[in-house]
Amino acid sequence: MGSARHARHARRPWRGAPGATSLQGLGLVLLVLLAWQRPTVASDDRIEAAIRVRSYRGGPTAANVLEICAGTIARWNEVWGGDDVPPWSPPCEIVLHRDRGSYLSVVGRAGGGTTGSSLVRRLPRGGMERRIDLLVAADGSFSALPHELVHVLLADRFGGRLPPLWLDEGVAMWWDSLDKQRRHWDDCEKAWVEGRQVPLVELLSIDSMPPTDRLAAVYGESLTLTRFLASRGEPSQLLELPARAEQIGYRRAIVEIYDLPWEALEAEWRAYVAAHRPDPATSLGAAREPRASDGD
Ligand SMILES: [Zn+2]
Repeated sequence: MGSARHARHARRPWRGAPGATSLQGLGLVLLVLLAWQRPTVASDDRIEAAIRVRSYRGGPTAANVLEICAGTIARWNEVWGGDDVPPWSPPCEIVLHRDRGSYLSVVGRAGGGTTGSSLVRRLPRGGMERRIDLLVAADGSFSALPHELVHVLLADRFGGRLPPLWLDEGVAMWWDSLDKQRRHWDDCEKAWVEGRQVPLVELLSIDSMPPTDRLAAVYGESLTLTRFLASRGEPSQLLELPARAEQIGYRRAIVEIYDLPWEALEAEWRAYVAAHRPDPATSLGAAREPRASDGD
């Protein structure tokens, strides 16, 4: 998975890690956006053309999966100002797995602790392959779908390349359930209190899945950093940051885009995290995680 990130076929599994959030500054922007722009509702035809669902006998229905996709895309459009459903051709495939063996046979052993995985890669003859694999819980839920779909949508915004991990995971977590976002939020604060933080310079340069003992800090910091930065400007500026950083480095890019001196960033970020624990009013994700009985 992670090691292939820049090889255009990275598979970045979603971790069932602890987590948390909502959107204070971003929430305000969202409200403003919603005030003058009707939420874009994905049309049935277009979503059926863009996404192909493969389930199993007795598994979740395509209609159910597509409904969740439509809701995710609608909220995606509200945040970034996109329009309707992406014209994916060939369609993005969403494959539902009944058992872990079937799921792992596709996503690989590295996906052992995950329930969702996404793949975006350039096809040899042109065009992009987009695929999401989901492990369905015993109660029929597959809560990783919005998060994984956001990875695919983000890859589009980055021209088929994977965004930096902190941004890719950070933004995908905005679509996790509020419960999960709060756990990530707590993980971030805990890592800081216990001196296990991943230094900012390192976080910004991580390009593959970190070892298990650092996952909680990396995910927690990625969520809080993306939310903090998004709160300081237009959400779209967040997506412009990596390209600008490639040209002039993060230090200067953050000053340029956010008018924030590097030396002040960490203190401001920490203050934001302490003051903005995720709340239901501004969260993009479901309020609660469906109760899964497979222990994940
Ligand atoms: Zn992810």
